[in-house]
Amino acid sequence: MTTLEIRGLRAGVYNREILTGIDIIVKSGEVHAVMGPNGAGKSTLSGVIMGKPGYDVLGGTITLDGTDVLAMSTPERALAGLHLVMQYPTEVPGVRVLDALAEAFAARGRSAEGLDVLLREEAASIGLEERFLERALNVDFSGGEKKRNETLQLAVLRPRMAILDELDSGLDIDALRDCSRRVEALTEPHEDLDGNLVDGVGVLAITHYSRLLKELRPDVVHVLVGGRIVAEGGPELADTVESDGYAAFAPEVVEREDAPSTLDDLFAPPG
Ligand code: ADP
Ligand code: MG
Repeated sequence: MTTLEIRGLRAGVYNREILTGIDIIVKSGEVHAVMGPNGAGKSTLSGVIMGKPGYDVLGGTITLDGTDVLAMSTPERALAGLHLVMQYPTEVPGVRVLDALAEAFAARGRSAEGLDVLLREEAASIGLEERFLERALNVDFSGGEKKRNETLQLAVLRPRMAILDELDSGLDIDALRDCSRRVEALTEPHEDLDGNLVDGVGVLAITHYSRLLKELRPDVVHVLVGGRIVAEGGPELADTVESDGYAAFAPEVVEREDAPSTLDDLFAPPG
């Protein structure tokens, strides 16, 4: 059993605090949804968990089975079993999908033998055409292809904890169903790459729509508005968000979502 524990997390960029105290505990096999409007701090949360450069941690802790995640580099976090499915997957010209995964295997001390077969099986189950395995990572992939490819990496690497940053954005209905079903299956106990039975992957599914959560059923829903968790509950909370909107939870903070960010300010016309 693996536990990802986020306690009192405060983080920001430059002098601006974005997350003002987040507490979430995810265990193996659990699906936790973090729902919030644009600008709530969802990508900041995923970036801070994975150690994306550019964020300052201002307080609180993140641990994986008691080990201090914040003290680790991003590659160390990946080797410890954390995996981020990015909202906007990076294009990497010159590096094929299968090369990237062979490197990921090597970093884990595994030979790439059998990887080819595994990749083809997983690609088929996720509905990604095999020719994408030979193409440069994410270069000229459509939105749906990028997310299928992200899901492929998750399925092949089988981390202990997966953070999905808007897996549903840019996905059509079919791709959404294929990707979320594959993730759902990974949350059940399954064989690891050595054929040993292991606990299901713990999932932190970040989204602003409830449609993802129709396929990937959450055990717990956390509503994130203005950098803090304003409501928590079971799957039914996603339906409440759908019908009432985020403003119903924290009217005074939701307004802030339209406020110009620090970066926008730089380009704002004078006056
Ligand atoms: P979400 O993913 O929920 O839409 P983000 O975490 O991307 O929200 O952003 C939260 C807030 O922090 C937004 O107001 C955004 O403009 C701001 N922000 C995020 N990253 C940066 C950055 N690098 N520089 C300045 N502002 C940022
Ligand atoms: Mg985001």
